[in-house]
Amino acid sequence: MNTNLYREAQRYLVGGVNSPVRSFKMVNLPPLFAKKAKGKYLYDYEGNKYTDYCLSWGAIILGHNHPIPKKELHKALQKGTSFGFCHLYETRLARLIQQAFPSMEKMRFVNSGTEAVMSAIRVARGFTKRKFIVKFDGCYHGHSDSLLVKSGSGLSEIKESSSEGVPTEVISQTLSLPFNNTEKLTEIFKKHGKEIACVILEPIPANMGVILPHETFLFTIEKLCKEYETLLIFDEVITGFRVALGGAQELFGIQPDLTILGKIIGGGLPIGCFGGKEEIMKHLAPEGNVYQAGTLSGNPLSMRAGFSVLHFLLRYPSIYTSMRELLKDFQKEWQRKKLPYTLSVFSTMFSVFYTSKEVDNFHDAQQQDIQAFQKIYKKLLENGILFPPSCFEGCFLSMKHKAKDLEKIIEIFCDNVKNIL
Ligand code: PMP
Repeated sequence: MNTNLYREAQRYLVGGVNSPVRSFKMVNLPPLFAKKAKGKYLYDYEGNKYTDYCLSWGAIILGHNHPIPKKELHKALQKGTSFGFCHLYETRLARLIQQAFPSMEKMRFVNSGTEAVMSAIRVARGFTKRKFIVKFDGCYHGHSDSLLVKSGSGLSEIKESSSEGVPTEVISQTLSLPFNNTEKLTEIFKKHGKEIACVILEPIPANMGVILPHETFLFTIEKLCKEYETLLIFDEVITGFRVALGGAQELFGIQPDLTILGKIIGGGLPIGCFGGKEEIMKHLAPEGNVYQAGTLSGNPLSMRAGFSVLHFLLRYPSIYTSMRELLKDFQKEWQRKKLPYTLSVFSTMFSVFYTSKEVDNFHDAQQQDIQAFQKIYKKLLENGILFPPSCFEGCFLSMKHKAKDLEKIIEIFCDNVKNIL
């Protein structure tokens, strides 16, 4: 940890960072300054090499600095970094996305997940002419005003129900409910059903740690949305091309009205995308009157990097099987060792909850032993393992991770839990 670099950064950047969780505040350490990254490894300025399970918060799946997007980016750079006009790779990337996500009949690219969610909500309200949105406690959908209500990710550490600077009037139309709780959801629909524009959720939440959704919960959401003509929005910014090519919607066989993507689809460059049923998306300008625009939207670098990564994934879907197998074995070993913490695994992502109880929702996730997390986190770092510096974030695998990397995690937990408990 380089405290000099941090001190210098603090002179200019708020908190020395450009995104709060990067500050390492939750683990009481100075932030890590990344010098370079390659494959599964990330290197800092002090010569430390870490096996990275953060992977740019899930955006990297082939491994850092992979030759495929790198080559494509070199080619793109010969032609210009931004045109502000239509170009071929927007269509090419959209075609690949639709191949994996047939529910996205029409889509639009933006520059971040936040932007994509914000715009999708606007489309949902424009289409339904309704005002309420329903979300779930601990799900994170970016930092637009109306969604900063009982949010996950960096906001898991903030005890208030929302961020300062967001007037109560703005969030008064956001209803946040406990995840995996069918009764509360049914109640809210009985009360407000005809005024709810959309239900938005991370179908497999990964911003309060990785939470496994009850299938009945997901199917109830789907059913209620149909019954009340409320739009169903799957925020698959993390799960898209991560848990399967076609995300959670492929695995659960649910066709949401709108889908949000980001992270992996940009091949490591800034991106966001929202799309869905044509009859809904056609309400967006220029076809309709819901306004949305962006100077750098669809920029050629993100489009081409994303295209090359998705092209690879669609061609070699077996990489998902391999990653899943690794995590299945990891989970078995974790159970065999009778570690006192709950390991949650879904496909190629996982998280450790520092509690022995099952974790079903945000409330359960908040019961974790934060001090135990902080202590283990330091041990992991000392041993060259980089987890996200918050116990409310998911860990991810890339296709470069191997069984022995995961075995090392278990070893460190086994060596240290006794002293911590
Ligand atoms: N939705 C989800 C599910 C996310 O995990 C994130 C970011 N972690 C976002 C939206 C916001 O994306 P961005 O950080 O690109 O604005």
